Amino acid sequence: EQEYLRKPEWLKIKINTNKSYNRLKHLMRDKRLNTVCEEARCPNIHECWSERKTATFMILGDTCTRGCRFCAVKTGLPNELDWGEPQRVAESVEIMGLKHVVVTAVARDDLKDGGAAVFAETVSQIRERVPGCTIEILPSDMKGDYESLHTLMDSGPDIFNHNIETVRRLTKKVRAIAMYDRSLELLRRVKEIAPSKPTKSSIMVGLGETKEEIIETMDDLRANNVDIMTIGQYLQPTKKHLNVERYYHPDEFNELKQIALTKGFKHCEAGPLVRSSYHADEQVNQTAAQ
Ligand code: SF4
Ligand code: SF4
Repeated sequence: EQEYLRKPEWLKIKINTNKSYNRLKHLMRDKRLNTVCEEARCPNIHECWSERKTATFMILGDTCTRGCRFCAVKTGLPNELDWGEPQRVAESVEIMGLKHVVVTAVARDDLKDGGAAVFAETVSQIRERVPGCTIEILPSDMKGDYESLHTLMDSGPDIFNHNIETVRRLTKKVRAIAMYDRSLELLRRVKEIAPSKPTKSSIMVGLGETKEEIIETMDDLRANNVDIMTIGQYLQPTKKHLNVERYYHPDEFNELKQIALTKGFKHCEAGPLVRSSYHADEQVNQTAAQ
């Protein structure tokens, strides 16, 4: 019999929804699009969609070829590639009036290019339709296929994000197929291709890592020139997923943020509800200004 930790007060939040949010939800269904904001039942959705004008689209379908033990996206054999998706994403970015968009995708290990061509096309179409919107891409490791990485970089995103997700020791337990060093290499290569492009990575805490291990991950990311780090609390999406080993107090997040800044990250968001895309609009502006 598994014992579950009790959720602390600071995580008991009510999702604030309103009319404009419901309108946008319908827009997503009409356009047959998936957002991480909805899939992950992100608590920040009202703030992001309605106030900050940010959203995270998950493209290349709703089925992932991997099955990471923290992730609620369904695993299986995905449908055929949808070449109409880039246009529908771009139209939605325009209708939503987004100022910053994050484009992520399920892992498509069934495809030779990991879906890079459709991914790049999505970036291009957003750029063309909504030139004022900054674009952050958050791809999988594409199994270390660097041709695909070039395809993505050629589309000209403003910020490159790839999540290392957890510390080295827990990678095998938490992530599927992904490897700690391969993720670091991907981030390093982005800097080689485009030295001025801000790079970013995130970890979840509460999976059983130690503070020393978190600091080691910071050092590893900095050694590969990563500019921005985000740190958030892992929350178990369903009982089938990994248990939460520990809830970090907001003060501990503040401490981690301070440590990250002394390590040389240009920006760090750390907090119980911080997600990879949280306050991303500020990060792109701040790093660009530096
Ligand atoms: Fe969406 Fe990210 Fe904002 Fe959550 S933090 S609502 S996933 S953009
Ligand atoms: Fe979820 Fe990404 Fe892992 Fe797929 S690769 S299971 S979408 S975290």
